[in-house]
Amino acid sequence: MSIVSTKVHGYAVSGAHAPFAPLTYALRELGPSDVKIDIAYCGVCHSDVHQARNEWGGSNFPMVPGHEIVGHVSAVGNQVKKFRVGDRVGVGCLVGSCGECDNCMAHEEQFCRKGPTFTYNSPLPDGSFTYGGYADGIVVDEAFTLKIPENLDLAAAAPLLCAGITTYSPLRHWNIEKGQKVGIVGLGGLGHMGLKFAHAMGASVVQFTTSLNKKDDALRLGADEVVVSTDENAMAAHAGSFNFILNTVSAPHDLNPFLNLLTRNGTMTLVGVPPKPPTIDISNLIFRRGSLAGSLIGGLAQTQEMLDYCGKHNITSDIEIIAPSAIDQAFDRVVKSDVKYRFVIDLSKNT
Ligand code: NAP
Ligand code: ZN
Repeated sequence: MSIVSTKVHGYAVSGAHAPFAPLTYALRELGPSDVKIDIAYCGVCHSDVHQARNEWGGSNFPMVPGHEIVGHVSAVGNQVKKFRVGDRVGVGCLVGSCGECDNCMAHEEQFCRKGPTFTYNSPLPDGSFTYGGYADGIVVDEAFTLKIPENLDLAAAAPLLCAGITTYSPLRHWNIEKGQKVGIVGLGGLGHMGLKFAHAMGASVVQFTTSLNKKDDALRLGADEVVVSTDENAMAAHAGSFNFILNTVSAPHDLNPFLNLLTRNGTMTLVGVPPKPPTIDISNLIFRRGSLAGSLIGGLAQTQEMLDYCGKHNITSDIEIIAPSAIDQAFDRVVKSDVKYRFVIDLSKNT
């Protein structure tokens, strides 16, 4: 074991309206259960945009975003059991939790009652904040480090660490299987993963989109049908028919036309986090005993389960690889729904 404190090269915003700029900083010294990861790729999640631009409030700057991290282990602490130098690993949205509360004990660390430590923009005991994956290295406790199946392309596996688990987890929680009709709202980073998973789980899947030009892609990615959600007639044709709808939309929009599509006892689960709260017409829920629910990423055990499922079913994300110099441009394109279907930053050539 070596105690290493290394400088890394990251990309940070200094404020809500600032462009990305290089930032050099020191990683924490390797603790006994820590692994040091040389980051190869990091996905660009819409949550990075929301937080870097302080759309949710409470952002801390400078901010190094990034929670879809993949790379190779370059050093391990002397009590690390699961990993060796050279292993292909990933880190998602979580890097710490209390480990003692009922939610942590239930392997749902994302709901830690003391508040989980998120991979970036999260307070640390010394008054500083976590820095994420838009960098060439990170030190993470092995309990929050995941194994990437060998058969998966490393860059295309990066988005599984957030977009993957955030869509896999609710589909599992609501027991999606063959014979059910599932809707996915929004064909972006999360949406295209939700579509792949719901299809792989055997459901009949309808993709809802506002972008007519994504129709052929949606069919290729596993949709049985594609509905342009602004087309009232097309929406009406599906009224009262869905067992489950996963809503991944990042911007404020009317939820009521989607609630109206639920069948008796149907559920719409929100994973998208628009900056403004929605208005609900309660009759859309009570006249079908419908549920409106939410879901937050997933716990560590389920994240590994999802990665292994992807290995078995050969599921990865459809990605566009960019250089760190193109992050600002990528953010602008994400906001315009012009991403097919996840940007992934190549940090392996970082200097
Ligand atoms: P994304 O790639 O930008 O995809 C969002 C999609 O929403 C767009 O591609 C677009 O799809 C649709 N959309 C955008 N604006 C819309 C509007 N005004 N009306 C209707 N549809 C619109 O974003 P993402 O990375 O998938 O993230 C989606 C949301 O999930 C974000 O709010 C993010 O913060 C949140 N998130 C939540 C969790 C969680 O744990 N709950 C985890 C990660 C991310 P079409 O072009 O097909 O219409
Ligand atoms: Zn994310």
